[in-house]
Amino acid sequence: MAAHYDLFVIGGGINGCGIARDAAGRGLSVCLAEMGDLGGATSSASTKLFHGGLRYLEFFEFGLVRHALAEREVLLRAMPHISWPLRFVLPLSHEMRFDSTTPTSRLLGAIMPWLKGRRPDWLIRLGLFLYDHLGGRKILPGTKTLHLPDTPEGAALQDRFTKAYEYSDCWVEDARLVVLNARDAEARGARILTRTKVTAARRVGDRWQITLARGGVSEQVKARALVNAGGPWVADVVQGVIGQNSHETVRLVRGSHIVVPRVAGHDKAYFLQGRDGRIIFVIPYESDFTLIGTTDADHQGDARVARCTEAERDYLLAFANEYLKLPLSAADVVWSYSGVRPLYDDGATSATAATRDYVLSLDENGPVLLNIFGGKITTYRTLAEDAWDKLKPHFPGRRDHWTAGVALPGGDFPVDGVGLLIEDLRTRYPFLGQAWATRLIRAYGTEARKILGPAQTAADLGSDFGATLTEAELRWLMTREYARTAEDVVWRRSKLGLRLGPDQIAAIDAFMAAGVTCADRATR
Ligand SMILES: Cc1cc2nc3c(=O)[nH]c(=O)nc-3n(C[C@H](O)[C@H](O)[C@H](O)COP(=O)(O)OP(=O)(O)OC[C@H]3O[C@@H](n4cnc5c(N)ncnc54)[C@H](O)[C@@H]3O)c2cc1C
Repeated sequence: MAAHYDLFVIGGGINGCGIARDAAGRGLSVCLAEMGDLGGATSSASTKLFHGGLRYLEFFEFGLVRHALAEREVLLRAMPHISWPLRFVLPLSHEMRFDSTTPTSRLLGAIMPWLKGRRPDWLIRLGLFLYDHLGGRKILPGTKTLHLPDTPEGAALQDRFTKAYEYSDCWVEDARLVVLNARDAEARGARILTRTKVTAARRVGDRWQITLARGGVSEQVKARALVNAGGPWVADVVQGVIGQNSHETVRLVRGSHIVVPRVAGHDKAYFLQGRDGRIIFVIPYESDFTLIGTTDADHQGDARVARCTEAERDYLLAFANEYLKLPLSAADVVWSYSGVRPLYDDGATSATAATRDYVLSLDENGPVLLNIFGGKITTYRTLAEDAWDKLKPHFPGRRDHWTAGVALPGGDFPVDGVGLLIEDLRTRYPFLGQAWATRLIRAYGTEARKILGPAQTAADLGSDFGATLTEAELRWLMTREYARTAEDVVWRRSKLGLRLGPDQIAAIDAFMAAGVTCADRATR
C-alpha cells in the first residue's frame, strides 16, 4: 500500500529542507525527495552569507533588506557552529561607478548630474546607517570608518585606497545548513529521501499521488499537500512533473566564484565596488584561502551543469586586481564553483536588477500545491514560516511558529561559545591539533564528541583518509548526514577537497561505495 503523508516536499535545497523541518515540528507527517544530494544545487553554491544585501538598498528593496537583516541574528543564535559574524571592509574609490539601472542612480543622476554615475561617500555612509538600523542588532557591531594606511586591512590593498567603511554581516556554511535542517526534520519524524526524483504528481480525489524514482525502483506515495521547492527546476516541476501550464517563471541567473590562496593577513572580508556598477566580495575562506565572487549572468540550459567560465574567472580576477596590491592570475585559482539563482521573473532588464525576494504561489484547485519561487539562504526560515501560513488552513489546530530560537543539531551552545567548545574538545581528546579540533567544532558543534566517542588516540578513529578526515567521521557522514559519494563529503559536508589529492578522494569513494552496513544504519 502507498505510504501516506500530510505534506510532500519536492527538492532538498535549503527551502525544501527548511519547510520540511518547520512542518515536521508542527506534527505533520512529511516526506521530502531530493533527486541528487541534499544541497547539491544552488544551496551549496552561494556566497555563504547571512546578509541583508547592502546593494539591494540601491534598488529600494527596503522590505527585503530589513527582513533579512533582522533574520541574521536569529539564525546566528540557532547555529553558532556553522555561522559566525564577519566584518566587511568597503574601500572608498571615486573611480568606481553605480549600476546605471538602479532607482538610486537614476534619482541621483537627475538631481546631481555632476556626480556622473559615481557613488558619493556620503551616500555609502547613509546606506550603511540604514543597514545598521533597519533590522536591529544586538550581537553584530555597527559601522566604523577605517584609515587604511598602516593597518592590516590596508596592507593587502593598493596604496591609493586610504579610507574605508567597515560593517557587519555573517558567514554561513550553506551546504551544512541544508543537511542540518534535513536531519532536524528527520529527528521530528520526516522521511528524507535523497537520490530520489519525483517523476510525476497528480491530483487524485483529495490526495496527491506522487511517483518517485530511486535507483531504478519506482514508488508511489500519497499526500494531502504538495510543496514544489525545486529551485532552478521549479517551473520544470510545474510543467513536467505536475503537468500544468503556468505563467509564472523563474529567471536563471548564474553566479560564479573562484578560490585562491589567502590574499590578506586578517579575518575580515572586502566588499569591492567595480567600474561597471557591480560589486564583488573577497572573503577569507577555509583558513588558508580566499573566496572571490560573484558574477551575474543569465543562464541557459540545465542548472546542474553551471560552471565558472574562463570569462567569468578573468572578470573576477581583473575586478579584484583593481584593489589588491599583489595581483592575482589564473594560475592562482585553485577551485571555482558556480550556482544558478532561481529568481522570480519580475521582468527586470538586467540579471543584477532581478528581485532577490521570494514569491509563494498557492494553488487550491483540489489538494493544495505551493510553488516556491526565488529566495535567499538568509530568508529560508521565514520563507518556511510564510509557507506554513499559506498551508495552515488545510491543517487546523497545529502549533504556532516555533523555529526562531530552536537550535539546529550541534548548535545548542551560546553564540560566543565556539572557543570554549574547541578548548574542551582538545582537553578530552589531546591528540587533536588546534586546526583539527576547530574544523570539527565548526562543522558539528556539540555533536563533535559523538563522532570521536571513546577514542584515546587518532588510530582509534579508524582509517586516515588525509587532511584529518577519519573513518569515524566518514561513517558519521554516511549514517547521519546522507552522504553517499566522496563529492558529497569533500565538496559539500566539508571543503576538504581543497586539501585532498585525487588518489585520496578516490580512496574515500571506494570506502563509501563498499556501502554502509545494516549494523551501521541500525545504530542511527
Ligand atoms: C552565486 C549565488 C550566490 C548566492 N549567495 C547568497 C548569499 O550569500 N546569501 C543568501 O542568502 N543567498 C544567496 N544566494 C541565494 C541562495 O543560494 C538561493 O536562494 C537558495 O540556495 C535557493 O534554495 P532552493 O532550495 O530554492 O534551491 P536549490 O538549492 O537549487 O534546491 C532545489 C532542489 O530541488 C531539487 N529538485 C528539482 N526537481 C526535482 C525533482 N523532480 N525531484 C526531486 N528533486 C528535485 C534539485 O535537485 C535541487 O537540489 C546565492 C545564490 C547564488 C546562485
